[in-house]
Amino acid sequence: MSETSLSYRFCPKCGGELARKFVEQEGHHRLVCQSCGFIFYLSSKPTASALVIRDGKVLLVERAIEPYKWWWDVPGGFTEDGEHPEEAVRRELREETGLEIRILGLLGIFMDAYVYGSVEDHTLNLYYLAEPIGGDPWPGSDAASLGWFGKDELPDRVAFQCSRDALVVWRGSPPPPLTAEAEVLS
Ligand SMILES: [Zn+2]
Repeated sequence: MSETSLSYRFCPKCGGELARKFVEQEGHHRLVCQSCGFIFYLSSKPTASALVIRDGKVLLVERAIEPYKWWWDVPGGFTEDGEHPEEAVRRELREETGLEIRILGLLGIFMDAYVYGSVEDHTLNLYYLAEPIGGDPWPGSDAASLGWFGKDELPDRVAFQCSRDALVVWRGSPPPPLTAEAEVLS
């Protein structure tokens, strides 16, 4: 695992200076406050996103903000403090795309990193499979436009490695099982 978040300099409790120290009892290096001894535990920040599928095509949003402005992305975002990721993904989809969704299952969990300002955090990214159940698709505040893409039509410029990883898994997934009707016809 690479080192990130090295630019956290001050203790969130007392404002004292943080230093990277080996904590004997835990067998790990930690950011430790030099004034009050508070250990600033770092963990990967959770995000929740959804591959919303309609007629075999996945919904992507064109980003209107940095990072990756004008690149395509899978809609989703950071979970709020204490928020279940399934709640978070429904909220993010409503905000970014105007769609109400039904979650069908978890496609996978992919690690990545997110840089903002001088700080880089690892992210732990949940990607759900979902279908639209209501609402009118429209690009929200962070999005320039929306698009539906088939497995052979995915754009080259997809923001974030974790979204690219999720799309690779989706593209490689087997087709849905034959319906009873199709089995009779085949
Ligand atoms: Zn402190």
